[in-house]
Amino acid sequence: AEMFGQLTSGLESAWNKLKGEEVLTKENIVEPMRDIRRALLEADVSLPVVRRFVQDVSEQAVGVGVIRGVRPDQQLVKIVSEELVKLMGGEVSELTFAKSGPTVILLAGLQGVGKTTVSAKLALYLKKQGKSCMLIAGDVYRPAAIDQLVILGKQVDVPVYAAGTDVKPAEIARQGLQEAKKKNVDVVIMDTAGRLQIDKTMMEELKDVKRTLNPTEVLLVVDAMTGQEAAALVTTFNVEIGITGAILTKLDGDSRGGAALSVKEVSGKPIKLVGRGERMEDLEPFYPDRMAGRILG
Ligand code: GDP
Repeated sequence: AEMFGQLTSGLESAWNKLKGEEVLTKENIVEPMRDIRRALLEADVSLPVVRRFVQDVSEQAVGVGVIRGVRPDQQLVKIVSEELVKLMGGEVSELTFAKSGPTVILLAGLQGVGKTTVSAKLALYLKKQGKSCMLIAGDVYRPAAIDQLVILGKQVDVPVYAAGTDVKPAEIARQGLQEAKKKNVDVVIMDTAGRLQIDKTMMEELKDVKRTLNPTEVLLVVDAMTGQEAAALVTTFNVEIGITGAILTKLDGDSRGGAALSVKEVSGKPIKLVGRGERMEDLEPFYPDRMAGRILG
């Protein structure tokens, strides 16, 4: 299925209701706006975000008047497109790099969201930009996660610092960073433990690790399939530990779009990268304009 297919067809029914109209009016946009509202809610976009979106689009739609050569349905598509881009943060949000010494990227997230996979994908992504990388295995609660990171590290040919499961994450972070400085690597990426849900221990450990690493980027990895819950998670992690952005995974699955459309607006933090597959190459920047284009079909 085409990504966000349901959202795309839900929006299409809005444009279709304007066929044959000459100009957008307060009256003839009522039904289309209802379709847009429904489509966004069904895509699991957060309700306050939907409300604001519908209001902004409605106000603009009524204000445009007649534009020669542009049909009202096309006008509405254009307004919705621009508002979708704005909703997703407008511009691409680039990764920040440290001015001197290694850039440190701390990855956090719940279990199973794709954190370990993303760690290695990100190393490959940065390696392709000519940066030397090192991975730190900090998921001390899942020995399998450490093994997995070591395997993935080999696959992308990036060294992995691992110290087993008996060492505290903050201590692993300290040792790993020391090693990275010794090796003069450009970017250090630390994978951390995820839990099934947020708990106090997890947050305290993350805070310790963050204090130790003083990271350039703290990125929360969230699963696109969790819809608006992803946006709520980004908000919570930002309040608790302070993050610089999010990485949205599993966009190749049948996610409905709610996460991509809610994260920035709900949390104030941008989605910086997206994962769209299980291969190591499947990581790319989050382009709000391209995403809007895909949603509009
Ligand atoms: P962690 O517990 O957060 O470290 O999650 P893992 O990295 O172990 O990933 C959990 C599962 O999700 C694995 O089977 C990955 O292959 C899969 N996965 C991760 N990212 C993606 C993605 O972007 N698309 C798809 N389809 N699967 C992914």
